[in-house]
Amino acid sequence: MGALPKRKLTSTRRGMRRAHWRLVVPSLVPCPRCRAIHMSHRVCPSCGTYSGREVIEIKTKKKEK
Ligand SMILES: [Zn+2]
Repeated sequence: MGALPKRKLTSTRRGMRRAHWRLVVPSLVPCPRCRAIHMSHRVCPSCGTYSGREVIEIKTKKKEK
């Protein structure tokens, strides 16, 4: 047995912790090249660019299996 809490949490304390639970909406940004909506600070999954000209991923569609 590992470390365990010394005493039971009250319903108030439990509720205070759970008051911060929420779903976070990801910040979606349209790509400057292909204008598909993708997450900011990520490589665009549809055209594979990041910050304008950088091509990091190669576009492949149903060629490898
Ligand atoms: Zn794109």
